[in-house]
Amino acid sequence: MKATNNYLLPASSAAPGRAIPTDLLIGDRWRTGAENERIEVINPSTGEVLACVADATVKDGIECIEAASRAASAWAATPPRKRAELLRSCFDRMVANSDWLAQLISLENGKALADAKGEVLYAAEFFRWYAEEAVRLEGEISTAPSGTNRIVVMYQPIGVSLLITPWNFPAAMATRKIAPALAAGCTCILKPAEETPLTAYAVAQLMLEAGIPPGVVNVITTAKPAAVVKAMLHEGRVRKLSFTGSTEVGRLLLHEAADTIVNCSMELGGNAPFLVLDDANVADAIAGAMVAKMRNGGEACTAANRFYVQRGVYAEFTRQLVAKMAAVKLGEGCAPDTGCGALINQAAVSKIETLVADAVKRGARVLLGGTAPSGPGFFFPPTVLSDVAPGSEILEQEIFGPVAVLMPFDSVDEAIRLANDTEYGLVAYLYTGDLKTGLRVAERLESGMIALNRGLVSDAAAPFGGMKQSGLGREGSHHGIREFTEAKYIAVDW
Ligand code: NAD
Repeated sequence: MKATNNYLLPASSAAPGRAIPTDLLIGDRWRTGAENERIEVINPSTGEVLACVADATVKDGIECIEAASRAASAWAATPPRKRAELLRSCFDRMVANSDWLAQLISLENGKALADAKGEVLYAAEFFRWYAEEAVRLEGEISTAPSGTNRIVVMYQPIGVSLLITPWNFPAAMATRKIAPALAAGCTCILKPAEETPLTAYAVAQLMLEAGIPPGVVNVITTAKPAAVVKAMLHEGRVRKLSFTGSTEVGRLLLHEAADTIVNCSMELGGNAPFLVLDDANVADAIAGAMVAKMRNGGEACTAANRFYVQRGVYAEFTRQLVAKMAAVKLGEGCAPDTGCGALINQAAVSKIETLVADAVKRGARVLLGGTAPSGPGFFFPPTVLSDVAPGSEILEQEIFGPVAVLMPFDSVDEAIRLANDTEYGLVAYLYTGDLKTGLRVAERLESGMIALNRGLVSDAAAPFGGMKQSGLGREGSHHGIREFTEAKYIAVDW
């Protein structure tokens, strides 16, 4: 299965060049969209066009469903051990090709190469984890309370799955869905974000090379996601929608999915609080803060959005954070010494400029950065704002950039109230020297995930997901595979 329209990724010191498909992957063919339109992919570090990919129409979307449906029964009937071995082979290939994949991510997303490399390895972990889970999808058996029969429960593949992913982790958000879907026995259609399609096509190409049968994974890019996805959801054969992206689009898709009662998993936006209590080890908290804030240049749903620091350590934490943030080098993603790469586009830069201006107008102090450099590229420097006033927009919206926002607090109750004062509930960070306090506070934080004396929660083996308007369902761990299954109950009288 050879692709004809390719983007030629240049060779680097770490990896040889590589031809990346730029056409739709539908069944056993790479092909252009029905109307032959293309979508420009921009390199955020330069603002220049990097490549053009196919633009799918509604008709292409429906053909994807057909391809995934045709492949469904054979894939569901493939022995779990065989599916596991294929997924394991995807893991091996992804790790073996991690250098050029990281370069590709950095080019189309703008993130620093080290972040991109970290993402590829994290993304690969989902293949390894779900290779291991594919053979452990256990059912249940019990005796009915009346004693008249047995209750047998088996977990069957839910069916054709539509997977929609954002641009901020173009590899990991894709594999976090594809791997459990395939492990459960489902075929799928991946619709990556139009900003970062090349990574998705590259991952699909590696999966085909690993032996995944045609039609099991289909990939389409479209500049008309609303129309194409709506038509696909209404067509009737898609039985699962797994979406990662903004809460706003997630809400729209839940409405769309309602008409055909499509099962939905939603990984949505966040507004993570980062609490530092007086008894915390400040150096540890700073190390965690740098990861929680600066991984991916702040373009992460898990990014620490609001730092609440107890009065006794506020000055010291602020001083050390400014020093660390000042040492981060802003630059082109692929440059070797870049610590913070470009933002995804000009709209992202403008949004942060507006949020910072609003905070400053309401009395925040700019301790570092605060102003976007002139182009080319879409950059915003590492920035620290202190004493941000309640009600500032920056406390209510996802910043999605390298801006740390600091506020002092006095009591732990006050910190918990402030942390929970948001419609989001994805992740919360907490630093304290007392584990008992830590666990008590963790219980009261309204978040699907708590990082206790850690700056990172992401792990293929852990249930990732949010409460409140941050989402529905969990990805990763044994929970993630269940999202792609339907529990079938058989009442047996034997
Ligand atoms: P987005 O919601 O704009 O887009 C996400 C995906 O949805 C893209 O593929 C896009 O093409 C598609 N889309 C957009 N409008 C659509 C529509 N009307 N119908 C169907 N599909 C549509 O989000 P983004 O800007 O790509 O990503 C950033 C957001 O993703 C942030 O809010 C971030 O917090 C969130 N995110 C969440 C997680 C998580 O696990 N909770 C992980 C990463 C990112």
